[in-house]
Amino acid sequence: MRPLLAALALLLPLSLHAADKPQVVTSFSILADLTQAIGGKHIELVNLVGADEDAHVFEPSPENAKALLKADLIIANGLGFEPWLERLLDSSEARGTRIDASAGVLPLQLIEHGHSVPDPHAWQSLSNAEIYVRNIAKALSQLDPSNSADYTARRDAYLVRLQVLREQANRQLNSLSASQRKVVTSHDAFGYFGQAWQLQFIAPQGLSTSDEPSAAEVARLIRQLRSEGVRAVFVENIRDPRLIKQIADEAGAKVGGTLYSDALAASGPASTYLGMFQHNLDTLMAVLEP
Ligand SMILES: [Zn+2]
Repeated sequence: MRPLLAALALLLPLSLHAADKPQVVTSFSILADLTQAIGGKHIELVNLVGADEDAHVFEPSPENAKALLKADLIIANGLGFEPWLERLLDSSEARGTRIDASAGVLPLQLIEHGHSVPDPHAWQSLSNAEIYVRNIAKALSQLDPSNSADYTARRDAYLVRLQVLREQANRQLNSLSASQRKVVTSHDAFGYFGQAWQLQFIAPQGLSTSDEPSAAEVARLIRQLRSEGVRAVFVENIRDPRLIKQIADEAGAKVGGTLYSDALAASGPASTYLGMFQHNLDTLMAVLEP
């Protein structure tokens, strides 16, 4: 055990009495919102990677390690999204149950550096979000059976809202013609969205934002956008927008707005999962619709 974590472990007996509610830790902002929506007032939630923050390059703090030690339940995305969490859990005495909210999702496989890896961004499909919500509700009910009926009711209410949003997305996105289905974003975060509605998302960066594209890759992307007349180019909330702005300029396209990829907004409509999805849908449609 690292000295820091050993020191924190000594604090644990004190913190156990700090709250009667189940202590739940989520790895990033989207899971925090879904979990709070199901858990309501019954849980005490600590989230690790916050709004507008990039989970791919996250460096946990001593506070994060402390929260994990106190947790009764740790909710991660899984699919390789949080390598820093695996390292933190391996090196700590965290005793809480850990679940992957994505368990049961059919993962998209992509080739990165010659290896087949699962695409972690499963939350960008609304049918996957249903799986997330069911997994979270089940884990909360197992952790805290006395409030199980409430978790189930909140789950069902949330599933209805997801279904309503899905029908709207189907109506709007299915109306697009074949020539309006190419979209450029900063990194490969929208594979599941693209699969669900037959859009092709193209990005200068791969699955993880930590890989910087080469000048040759950027030049190739600009040539592709010019030759195919792609005009839907978007920045992401978790990324420096300069590269995308440069690509749009050189390809003769305009930046169509901000898409929320791996984190919610700190405030405003995109600060919840449902609001984020609605924002992304509206932003895409404003550019793609004739
Ligand atoms: Zn990502």
